[in-house]
Amino acid sequence: MRLVVQKFGGSSVANAEGVMAAARKAIRAKRMGNQVIVVVSARGDTTDNLIELAREITEKPPAREMDMLLSTGEQISIALMAMAIQSLGEKAISFTGAQVGIVTDSTHTKARIKSISTSRMRKALEDGQIVIVAGFQGMDEDFNITTLGRGGSDTTAVALAAVMKHDSQGPGLEVACDIFTDVDGVYTTDPRIVPEARKMEAISYDEMLELASVGAGVMHSRSIEFAKKFDVPLQVRSSFSDSEGTWIVPEKEWMTLVPVCGAAMVREEARISIEGVPDKPGISHQVFNAVSSRNIVVDMIAQSVGTNGKANIGFTVHANELSVAVEVLQPLADELGAKLFYDAQVSKVSVVGAGMRSHTGVAEKMFAALVAENINLRMITTGDIKISVLVNKEDADKALGAVHRAFNLEKTRAQEPASPPATTNGKKYGRDLLAITQQLASMEEILVSNIHASTDQGRITLFGLPDRPGNCLKIFQAIAGHGIVVDMIVQNLSGEKADLSFSVPIPQIQKALELAREVAKAIGADIHASADSDNATLYVLGVGMRSHTGVARKIFGTLAQEGINILMINTSETCISVVVSQKQGELALASLRAAFGLDA
Ligand code: ADP
Ligand code: ASP
Ligand code: MG
Repeated sequence: MRLVVQKFGGSSVANAEGVMAAARKAIRAKRMGNQVIVVVSARGDTTDNLIELAREITEKPPAREMDMLLSTGEQISIALMAMAIQSLGEKAISFTGAQVGIVTDSTHTKARIKSISTSRMRKALEDGQIVIVAGFQGMDEDFNITTLGRGGSDTTAVALAAVMKHDSQGPGLEVACDIFTDVDGVYTTDPRIVPEARKMEAISYDEMLELASVGAGVMHSRSIEFAKKFDVPLQVRSSFSDSEGTWIVPEKEWMTLVPVCGAAMVREEARISIEGVPDKPGISHQVFNAVSSRNIVVDMIAQSVGTNGKANIGFTVHANELSVAVEVLQPLADELGAKLFYDAQVSKVSVVGAGMRSHTGVAEKMFAALVAENINLRMITTGDIKISVLVNKEDADKALGAVHRAFNLEKTRAQEPASPPATTNGKKYGRDLLAITQQLASMEEILVSNIHASTDQGRITLFGLPDRPGNCLKIFQAIAGHGIVVDMIVQNLSGEKADLSFSVPIPQIQKALELAREVAKAIGADIHASADSDNATLYVLGVGMRSHTGVARKIFGTLAQEGINILMINTSETCISVVVSQKQGELALASLRAAFGLDA
């Protein structure tokens, strides 16, 4: 028997016609011999309207009551969907998240799934029912209703598919998960902003994870985390047609032939910087601990190199979390004798692609496209398969269009197959089913799969680069012009000046320094450039590395405990890398591996 999980988003069930169309899709899947679970979101703008209702009462609605309110949107949808299916002559039963045993932690409004019990769903399925489950919601261990964060119905759908596939009653069950929405697939960027955006036939889990986490609102990033962790192939497709959508699957070689597959933007970002913190071990830990204690996801992190015993830590958070972040950081900044600055008028534009691992010059191309539009880069961070830049909010749309054009994203990705790639159903690519099944006990626990260290990268730092469009580009053009591959880039703006650090292979570090100095001289002002090659870079790999606030916290906490100073940090959904001094590299590696239980 095959199980099909179908998820219908808010716009797909906004009116009666939409509900009936969705019901027909579910019935068709059932009549083809599948078991069917349908996950539905709140209709149309219901969730937004509910938030508005709360605001009419109070500026700061209590999170528990907010969840009580928000969960009602999905409850309307499941009842209507069950009625629709029954009216078309098929058996159906609706359940809230709590009724199917979706147990979450108690972080109201952004709860994480701890476990799901499958018995009630299985019983209904065996009874021949189409099972309809409310997306986006669960309950905590004290029976309080919780919600999973905006867009969380995707996560409900994938989590249900995962648990049905892997729990003790269903190992080996063939599972498919279709995400029906108002677009016919995943596009190279949001087609509402960039009309030239192109639908992709397929995208890898890592790329989609990264794209979603840097703003591609088409999928909830945590749903991709589940899909990857539990081997659930996904298809994003249109509610309004039967056309083939976009497959989200394990990485294939053709996907790496071009460096960039997509671009995304987060319009409402906020930049925070703490300037003049003591440059010693444990300070980043204190800062990020404070932020993550409130469950705020720290986004771009740019910790610049210390001078005169002081360092600046710059990072971004989502704009709607700025006030809480400031609330916890102001006292800490005061205590450290540092200054806290923030700016909510910034947006983040990112490019993503698995091919970035093997292609050079990607950052340079992106910066050139932005500079050509006279857009200033407020902050830069790079990851394994993404590059993000922070721009002024008024430049955001223009910036997204410019990078989309620069990477020719409107053109088909090299060798993209005409037919969807084979899914992994039934096969476990190199992963042990037992291990996966055991993870179900803590479904959304972080999964750090490996930590390794490398000492072959050195670091160049330029202090006090005047903050003007093009300065950064000139440096990378000069470096790339000599075939030097730049790995990590961190730029942090303080006042009118930016500190820029980047890593290059040690054999080329002197040449890179020379080139950087030449450019610095041409730019003028008093720029100081330095190089150091006694670094070790630690790579912590896994899924959900950035959105699980606990991962960075654990990394910083572990290093702080060992008295290890962090020189540079980069985060992405699949990798957090930190640079420490070479003599502390081994200790850092051993303590992190122990902290994440990798040597057990
Ligand atoms: P649903 O209610 O079905 O969950 P969402 O509004 O959450 O739908 O997601 C679909 C929307 O995501 C599209 O209408 C589109 O504007 C937006 N979007 C953003 N980035 C992308 C992208 N890369 N590809 C496709 N759609 C995108
Ligand atoms: N209804 C929720 C929201 O609007 C969940 C979802 O649509 O996925 O965010
Ligand atoms: Mg959505």
